[in-house]
Amino acid sequence: MTARVLIVDDILPNVKLLEAKLSGEYFEVITALSGAEGIQKAETQSPDIVLLDVMMPGMDGFETCQLLKSNPLTAHIPIVMVTALTDATDRVRGLEAGADDFLSKPVNDIALMARVRSLVRLKMTVDEWRVRENTANQFGLVGKQSLILNEPFEKAKVLVIEDKAFESEKFVETLKHDEDTVTPVRSGEQGIALAQQNNFDLITVSLNLATEDGLRLCSHLRSNERTRAIPILVIGEETDMKRIAIGLEIGAYDYILRPIDRNELLARVRTQVRRKRYQDRLRANYEVSLSLALTDTLTGLYNRRYLMVHLEKLLKKNAEAKKALCVLMVDLDHFKHINDTYGHGVGDEALKIFAERVVQRLRSFDLVARLGGEEFIVVLPDINLDMAIQVAERLRKGVCSEPFKVGTPSAPLDINVSISVGAMLIDIGQGDITTEQVLKRVDEEVYKAKGAGRNCVYFAGLGQIGMTPITPSDSESIGDTIKKII
Ligand code: GH3
Ligand code: MG
Ligand code: MG
Repeated sequence: MTARVLIVDDILPNVKLLEAKLSGEYFEVITALSGAEGIQKAETQSPDIVLLDVMMPGMDGFETCQLLKSNPLTAHIPIVMVTALTDATDRVRGLEAGADDFLSKPVNDIALMARVRSLVRLKMTVDEWRVRENTANQFGLVGKQSLILNEPFEKAKVLVIEDKAFESEKFVETLKHDEDTVTPVRSGEQGIALAQQNNFDLITVSLNLATEDGLRLCSHLRSNERTRAIPILVIGEETDMKRIAIGLEIGAYDYILRPIDRNELLARVRTQVRRKRYQDRLRANYEVSLSLALTDTLTGLYNRRYLMVHLEKLLKKNAEAKKALCVLMVDLDHFKHINDTYGHGVGDEALKIFAERVVQRLRSFDLVARLGGEEFIVVLPDINLDMAIQVAERLRKGVCSEPFKVGTPSAPLDINVSISVGAMLIDIGQGDITTEQVLKRVDEEVYKAKGAGRNCVYFAGLGQIGMTPITPSDSESIGDTIKKII
């Protein structure tokens, strides 16, 4: 794994030293000699991580960190503060300014590489969701730009895997401050079982368990689908540094050394909780915007964008699979009249009822999309001509057999609706027909149906069909009909 590292330090020999270490591990290095230059380079050169000196003349590391983390262009870039200060209050100040971690000077090589690698890996996950969110936004939904620092960190659910009671008590006591719910367990087995059933925001794992290997636990939690996305904070002794490095390598997000400083614990837990919530929100936004981008909000059916992509795939598949496919265009008759007579709201209600009725009468793998206005497309894969004719006719009769109940309980209103259908069978061996050609053809058939007085089905190549009544009852589903025909 390689990455671009930005080193910000006012003392050139310090920059050179870090640069040499990182270049030796094949990282690409960018350097800046002041906070202002660092911010400028972070904005323009998209580093994957920033190593930031604390003591600098003019703008110091805390201020630089704060500015980077509140700038939408740079907020997602992890920051490691590099400092000679070992005082815990400085660490806390840095974490509160948004820093992701600290390294003490002189920089320990193992700690440096472990931190850089694990933070870069973490950034890649977040980047992935940022890219997807972007794609979703291009579908037409512009999400709000968000910052990790604005995420709430209170009331987190924290699982503490620690076999020493006085240590886990410290977690419970400290995290009360943020109203976190802390669940302490004595063994990994218990922890894993609980993590399967609950949605924890963070899991802390002791590397000093008497009878278990904490690293093995980390690896287990990482490889399990249910717990994979939960941040892990490992707790170890100063002498555990090598194992901590392995822990970060296999997927722990952060570590704390004993004796645990309460403020540092609080700050590190907050950082992880914010990050988790940020990531969860990116994922949720993505899913929502994707579904909004591909479905019609009024009827819940697929929209034109989805139909175009999907129909093209089906046509291709159809050519390969040697199965016929039927496309119906359905247009409500005199719909303008419904709007004009009862109002647009009633029109909307009618469209919803119509959509429900169509879906109810089709097989689960048939596709219904709203092309726009009061025009719909139904795609029936894997079908033959006889069945397609029956489906189209049954749809026409079934959908409109009962009046649409569009009124309210206090003012009931029933209206009669009919549809005109244009159909086309894309038969076996009719391979290279395009989506546009199909839609044009069914549109022409609808036009003919309208011309013939509406409330009828026109089939490409066959003309008007369905003049004979169909038995049994119209309320029977198409799925049943098809099963019968088969
Ligand atoms: P035809 O039988 O020839 O299809 O006549 P029509 O009135 O159904 O067709 P026309 O294309 O003239 O009018 C369609 C109407 O559908 C006009 C438009 O205001 C209405 N419409 C389109 N989208 C919506 C919608 O989302 N809600 C409502 N209520 N009406 C809509
Ligand atoms: Mg119409
Ligand atoms: Mg129309």
